[in-house]
Amino acid sequence: MKFKTIIEPFKIKSIEPIRSTTPEERAQYLRESHYNVFLLRAEDVLIDLLTDSGTSAMSSHQWAGIMDGDEAYAGSKSFFRFQRVVQELTGMKHVIPTHQGRAAEKILFTITGGSGKLVPNNTHFDTTRANVEYSGAQAIDFPTAEGRQPDVIADFKGNIDLAQLERFIEERGKENIPLCMITVTNNSGGGQPVSMRNIRSAKELLSKYGIPLFLDACRFAENAFFIKKREQGYHDKTVREIAREMFSYADGCTMSAKKDGLVNMGGFLALNDDHLASQARNILIVTEGFPTYGGLSGRDLEAIAQGLEEVLDENYLTYRIRSVEYLGEKLVAAGVPIVRPPGGHAVYLDARAFAPHIPPHEYPGQTIVCELYRQGGIRAVEIGSVMFGKYDSTGNLVSPAMELVRLAIPRRVYTQSHIDYVSEVVQAVFEGRKRLKGYKIIEEAPILRHFTAKFEPII
Ligand SMILES: *Cc1c(COP(=O)(O)O)cnc(C)c1O
Repeated sequence: MKFKTIIEPFKIKSIEPIRSTTPEERAQYLRESHYNVFLLRAEDVLIDLLTDSGTSAMSSHQWAGIMDGDEAYAGSKSFFRFQRVVQELTGMKHVIPTHQGRAAEKILFTITGGSGKLVPNNTHFDTTRANVEYSGAQAIDFPTAEGRQPDVIADFKGNIDLAQLERFIEERGKENIPLCMITVTNNSGGGQPVSMRNIRSAKELLSKYGIPLFLDACRFAENAFFIKKREQGYHDKTVREIAREMFSYADGCTMSAKKDGLVNMGGFLALNDDHLASQARNILIVTEGFPTYGGLSGRDLEAIAQGLEEVLDENYLTYRIRSVEYLGEKLVAAGVPIVRPPGGHAVYLDARAFAPHIPPHEYPGQTIVCELYRQGGIRAVEIGSVMFGKYDSTGNLVSPAMELVRLAIPRRVYTQSHIDYVSEVVQAVFEGRKRLKGYKIIEEAPILRHFTAKFEPII
């Protein structure tokens, strides 16, 4: 192309107003929600970067599909379209629709998990970890060393550490490992991609031990696009071909269509194994619904099928990845510490480096999240000691490797000027960082505590 500006590859047909509030009002809303931004009202948020999950703007074709959805209880036309699109994409035999990704995880680990079982992953996403642990099994993360260092620039920081994985299998016994997962892109590890070579080698390694490989495929298209841009031998392949190759190494996948399905609700479990699939359908019928709709309505299936086609459009992916990178570049230029290079769906602030005077047990990430909201009406999310912290037997907090703040960018929702504004607010918070103070937790749930925990500022 002759011109260097990458534009949003769509025009706007319907708009949704957003509401401005004052810093004083926002300070009040923060107090009322116990300094947990999950407890804010969305209408009090100006730019919502809490998540890229279920927050996509649907296309006119998807909205047309909503009207066209077939709501038959059994054998719906929309199911068959959905099944065909997922089968063509993943090459997998069985497609089981669920209301979202975690429902697919719940079914999978109800069958394969249980006490004494061990599930390795590059990095478990929070609901994946929760579902593994809820089944009684143990969830273990094997990110690579570079994946744990926010300021090390590398192409595929989402990779799983194969040497560690092999040692683990040898030590703990293949019979205790029902499956291994690879999360693409690696959400909790900074939205970083996994290389084709890593997926292929993982498959080879696991095959030696007879352990199935599952992809947590939520952001398969973004991962495929990074492979096209960064991995030797893939430049001339289409993103669709790359995605298909990724899935070809897997025995199954769980998917939250709320990410690269470009819809507001939905997911699926796809599998090759007939026996596993029939067990999964039995649970599906009890917990979700009949196998041709699972947890979804016909219109949802139609919108997901359309979204899975649109997400592979390379103009879309070019714009998508560039808009995240653009925010990352602006922050780096201003000296703000972020996980580098930026991931596919989000920019992650490195909270340890951002506010080094706040120790992990005073939650530096949570502090930054509150301040982004108070100063600029931006809602981000902490991915650190609040989300993943555990207590040891003496009640001391055990922190995860990184303290991050995620600025997740919803798909096709915000324009470049919104992103410019976000960059300005982050820089303002960064400039005042020395004055920031930590938080303490005054109430928390035993599982997924970040959703409901209540905080108090430390003064
Ligand atoms: C969102 C997500 C999930 C869970 O999907 P839900 O649709 O939110 O239930 C699982 N894994 C990863 C990597 C995710 O990003």
